[in-house]
Formats: sequence, C-alpha cells, structure tokens
Amino acid sequence: MGWFEKLKEGLVKTRDNLVQKVDAIFSLNSNLDEEFYEELEEALIMSDVGVKTTQDIIEMLRKNIKDKRISDPEDAKGELKNILMDIMQRDKNLKIIPPQFPAVFMVVGVNGVGKTTSIGKLAHFFKSKGYKVLLAAADTFRAAAIDQLEVWGQRVGVDVIKHQEGSDPAAVVFDALQAAKARKADILICDTAGRLHNKKNLMEELRKINKVIEREGENFYKETFLVLDATTGQNALLQAKEFMDVSNVNGIILTKLDGTAKGGIVIGISNELNVPVKMIGVGEGIGDLLEFNPEMFVKALFDSVK
Ligand code: GDP
Ligand code: MG
Repeated sequence: MGWFEKLKEGLVKTRDNLVQKVDAIFSLNSNLDEEFYEELEEALIMSDVGVKTTQDIIEMLRKNIKDKRISDPEDAKGELKNILMDIMQRDKNLKIIPPQFPAVFMVVGVNGVGKTTSIGKLAHFFKSKGYKVLLAAADTFRAAAIDQLEVWGQRVGVDVIKHQEGSDPAAVVFDALQAAKARKADILICDTAGRLHNKKNLMEELRKINKVIEREGENFYKETFLVLDATTGQNALLQAKEFMDVSNVNGIILTKLDGTAKGGIVIGISNELNVPVKMIGVGEGIGDLLEFNPEMFVKALFDSVK
C-alpha cells in the first residue's frame, strides 16, 4: 500500500463520518447561508474538532467568503481546506527528522496511549532511512514494558539499553547516552513511564531525566514528543495541557487514528496547543506510523471518492 492509501485507510472512520456530510453541505445547491454554517459547525464538532476550534474555523470561513465574495460552494470548500491546512502548519516545525545529529528524543504520555509501539515504529522509520538508532527502556515501572521495547528492538534490528524493573529511569538514560556516544548512534529514543495520576512524581522523574540529558548529552539535539491517543477525543487535549505544564513538549505523536471517527482532533490539537502534530499512527503494524502532512491529511479527509 502506498503512503497516501495508508493515510486514507487509516482515516476511513473519520472520513465516513465526515465526507458525506461535507459533500451535502457543500453541494451545488447550497447558497452559503446560515443553514450552511450551522450544518458545517455540527459536522466539525461531531468529528471532534472541538467547540473552540470549530468556532474559530467558522469565523475565518465567514470572513474569507465575505471578503472574497465567494458564492460557488466548490470555492467555499477550497477556502475551508486552506483554513484547515493553515491551522495545522502555521509557525510549526512539522519535521520529525532532526536538523542535526546526534539527537535524543524523549517520549512521554500516559499509559496505554501507544508510546512503546510508536517508538518501535519510529525506530523502523529512521532505520529505513539509514540512521543508526538506539532505544532506552526508561519506563522501568513494569518489567513488561522493558520486554515490550526489547521485542520491538529485535524486530527492527536496533539495540535497546535497559536496566532491571524498578530501577532509576534517569540512570537508564545516562547509560543509553554513553552507549549512543560510544556506538556513534544518530538517534537515541527514550521510552518513559506515564504516571500522570501522580503529577508531582512524573514532574520529578522527567526533570531528573532532562537533567541527565542536559549534562551527558550536551552535543545532542533534543526534543520531547508527547504521545496522545486519538480515540480519547477531547480528553487528549486535556492530557496534552497537563503534560505541557510539566515538560517542554516539541511535538505530538497522535496514535490510533484508525480506530476512531474523531480524527478531527488533529485540527483541534494543532489549533489549541502551540505544538505540531509530527506523526500519526494509523494501525498496529511496523509501517503504520506516518509523517504528518497537513495538505495530504485534508485531502484524505475531504476529497470525495471519485
Ligand atoms: P504505552 O503504554 O503508551 O507504551 O502504549 P503501547 O505502546 O503499549 O500501546 C498500547 C496499545 O495500543 C497496543 O496494543 C498497541 O498495539 C496499540 N496501538 C498503538 N498505536 C496504535 C495505532 O496507531 N493504531 C492502533 N490500532 N493501535 C495502536
Ligand atoms: Mg509502554
């Protein structure tokens, strides 16, 4: 399957939820009246774009339609697509490939959102581009989490630095940084535990890991990625705000888009948080993590099947 087919396939539930409505709303006999805006508002909210972002979109669309004296529904649809693309890319660094090497990525997020799986997929993504990847099992909370990362490491063919269950995550990251330097890795990706229910502990743990990265990885380019589960809809936004309070999040990996009709959350996240969605998960397979591309995303969501 090609990249765009994969994206379309992964968005099928959101598409099914949206595309027919959008086609009806922008049908040739629409005269872009109040009813048109109301129906569009409803369709966007139903796709979990979020109330605030939906209102922002409707407001911009009204303005553009007025300013540009648009009367053709097809042109109005083009305006909507432009607005959505703009929301998802304005002032944002969407690139996942670091601008310099070596790089260290910290991956955070609550339990079950898909951190470890996404790290495995990311390792595959970078390895297939020719980069040398190393993984750090700094989710030391459960033995199963360490094993799971190790399985991914074997599957992808990259080394995993690990300690015993219950050990200090910062010590794992310390060792992983030494190993990354010694083995001349291009990219080190650190898995972490996501115990958000204890914000103080989480903050302390992330602070300690960050300190080790600052000290031991001074030549490394650093980013922190927050993993969010798209099936949780608006809750994902709340989670993101909590994490952004305690750490410096540079990008979002949004997983499980294949399992939800709430794919509009991508737009809400991009609009309400000043953080780019960098990768999207569209399945459980090794190749099911895609670089996020706003233009293709909008195309996959809104273009009618011809
Ligand atoms: P963690 O606790 O954050 O490390 O989450 P895991 O990586 O263990 O993932 C939890 C579950 O979500 C696993 O069963 C994964 O296979 C599944 N998962 C992760 N990403 C995706 C995705 O993009 N699509 C689907 N369908 N499942 C996913
Ligand atoms: Mg995990």
